[in-house]
Amino acid sequence: MEIDSELKVAEALAEDVGKGWARLDPEDIKAFNGVLGDLIEIRGAQKTVARITGTFPEFYGKKVIQVDGITRSNAQTNLGEVVRVKKIPRKTATTILISPLDFTHVLPEESELEQFAKVLQGVPVILGDKINIPFLGGKERLFNVEATSPSGGVIINQKTKFLLKKPDFSMEAPSPVSYEDIGGLGKELRLVREMVELPLRYAEAFERLGIEAPKGVLLYGPPGTGKTLIARAIASETKLHFIRVNGPEIIHKFYGESEARLREIFEEATRKAPSVIFIDEIDALVSVRGSGSHEGAPERVASQFFNELDNLSDHSQVIVLGATNREDLLDPALIRAGRLDYVLQFPIPDEKDRLEIFQVHTRERPLGDDTDLTKLAKSTEGMVGSQIALICRSATMVAIAELIHTPEKRPSTHLFIGIKHFQEAIKMVQKKEESSAC
Ligand code: ADP
Repeated sequence: MEIDSELKVAEALAEDVGKGWARLDPEDIKAFNGVLGDLIEIRGAQKTVARITGTFPEFYGKKVIQVDGITRSNAQTNLGEVVRVKKIPRKTATTILISPLDFTHVLPEESELEQFAKVLQGVPVILGDKINIPFLGGKERLFNVEATSPSGGVIINQKTKFLLKKPDFSMEAPSPVSYEDIGGLGKELRLVREMVELPLRYAEAFERLGIEAPKGVLLYGPPGTGKTLIARAIASETKLHFIRVNGPEIIHKFYGESEARLREIFEEATRKAPSVIFIDEIDALVSVRGSGSHEGAPERVASQFFNELDNLSDHSQVIVLGATNREDLLDPALIRAGRLDYVLQFPIPDEKDRLEIFQVHTRERPLGDDTDLTKLAKSTEGMVGSQIALICRSATMVAIAELIHTPEKRPSTHLFIGIKHFQEAIKMVQKKEESSAC
C-alpha cells in the first residue's frame, strides 16, 4: 500500500550536499515501509526525488526531512515547510537528456558527458529537476533534466548515458522583418540579396564553372544605418536560419571560451543550413593588432574565426555577414578572396531615403493633418535610420502623454501625432545625441 508521510523540511548536513540524499528518522522511514537507499518522491509545490539515508539521534522524533538546497529548489519548498513524502520504485537511469541552464558557458564535449555518470552515480533525478554538475577545477554548472529513460524517478549509475540538448543560438528569435520595413537602401538590399541568395541557390553552377562562391559580405557604415535590419530582413524573407552574433560579446562574455563558442556557432549554422551568420562589430574578432579599440581580441580567436570561415565549403550553404563601423580596424585578412571579399558601404541616408524611413516608421500611426513627412525628412539632415525610428516612437509617446495629461481633451479627442509632437521628439533625439557626444 502506498503511504504518504508529511515531514518538515530541514537543512542538509554540509557533507551531504549534491548527493541527492534525504536524511530521515528510522521511525519515519518505517512509517512508509522504506529502507535505506530507497527512492522517495518529495512533493512540495513541485515533485522531486531523493534517496533515503538515516539521520542522527538528535533529529529523532522531530518529523523532519533533511535535504540540500537543490533538492529543496527542485521540490519548490523552503526550510520549515511541510512536504509529502512517499516511496517509489527504485529504477536505474539508462539515458538522461540535459540542457544547460546558463548559455554563457561552453557546452560540454562528448568526453565530458561520459564523465557525468561517474561523477553523479547514485544521484536520483526526475524530469524537470535541475542538477548541479561539478566540473573539473571545482566549478559547478546547473543543467535541466529534459527527459529520462525510463521515465519517473531514476537513479544515475556508472552506465547512465548523458545526452545534451544543444541550445539554439537564435533563441532570441527576432521578430520577422520584411523588405517593406526598410526605407531607402534599395541598392544595398539588392546587392546583399544577390550575395546571399545566389550562392545558396546556385551552389552547383558555381562549382561547375569553377568559381569559388563568396562566403559572405562585409557591411560597413555608421551605427544605425540599417546593416542589421537588412540582414534580418533577408533571413526572414528567404526563410534562412539566422544566427546573430555580437563580436565583443564573443570576446568578453565568453572570455577564455571564445574559440569554442565560434565553433558552436558555425556548427549550428551548418546543421541548420541554409543559414546566415550575422556578426555585428566584427572588428572585435579580427582587428589589426595594436589597434586598441577592442583590446584583448586574442590572435587565436581571429585564427579560429578564419579557420571556420575557410572550412565552409560551397556546399555548406552558410553565408557570413559581418558588420562594422570601424573598417580601419579590420585585419585585411578578413576581406581576402574567398572570405568576406565583398565590401558594401552603408551611407548616411539622403533626403529621399529619410522620407522613406519616416514612411516606414509612421505606417499605421495616426498622423495629424499638419504632419508633413517631406518637411520632416528635410529637417533631419545627417540623421540615420535608428534616429529617425526613435523620433517616430518618441513623437507617438509625446502625443499619448499629452492626451493623458490634458483631461479636457478626453474622451472625445482621438490620438493623432501632429507636427509639434515630431518637433519635440526631434529636439529630444538631438539632445540625447549631444549628451552622448560629450
Ligand atoms: P546597424 O546595424 O547599421 O547599426 P540597425 O539595422 O540595427 O543599424 O538599425 C537600428 C534600427 O534603426 C532598426 O531596427 C530600424 O528600426 C531603424 N533603421 C535603421 N535603418 C533603417 C532603414 N534604412 N529603414 C528603416 N529603419 C531603419
